[in-house]
Amino acid sequence: MTAQTKQKLLDELKKRIEEADVTPELKKQATQLVFGDGNANAAIVFIGEAPGKNEDEQGKPFVGAAGKFLNEMLEMINLKREDVYITNIVKYRPPNNRDPLPGEKEVWLPYLQEQLDIIRPKLIITLGRHSMDVLLPGLRISQVHGQPKRYKDHVYLPLFHPAAALYNGGMRQTLIDDFALIPVILKKVKDKES
Ligand code: URA
Repeated sequence: MTAQTKQKLLDELKKRIEEADVTPELKKQATQLVFGDGNANAAIVFIGEAPGKNEDEQGKPFVGAAGKFLNEMLEMINLKREDVYITNIVKYRPPNNRDPLPGEKEVWLPYLQEQLDIIRPKLIITLGRHSMDVLLPGLRISQVHGQPKRYKDHVYLPLFHPAAALYNGGMRQTLIDDFALIPVILKKVKDKES
């Protein structure tokens, strides 16, 4: 599938979600849907938790403080946001940035899976425990962060969430160290497939 076709399919999916009543309570309180952003043909997809205030206002994921930190870590491994695709498990902002509820994550999961089926990335990077829980159930992030996991036809890399790591020195350095592994892991996945 060409990048153009993928983008068209993503646009159609976005429109379908906007027209559907997905988590109506969240939709009612949110400014807009935060569908996802970046390269429809990306080899790497990052999945966060849910939009915060800035994301809700701008309609793009990871544009606040956590997003700035994410951009800096991407730069460290010579990637730009335009090279990757970024989205969240829950796509409307939960009120007061509360954690997404289990039922909300469950309702959004099929849409995330459709997004991934269109993009077909080589590596799916979960940011924080919420997106890890829905895609790689039963793991503890403190034990598995930075370790690639093959599960149901995909390769995943669970990482700490940049917002959690931002103001915690130890976790911040761990996240930076884990990020540095991304190019090596991606190369291994690509080599295995070719
Ligand atoms: N945190 C998230 O999990 N997602 C965003 O889009 C922004 C902050």
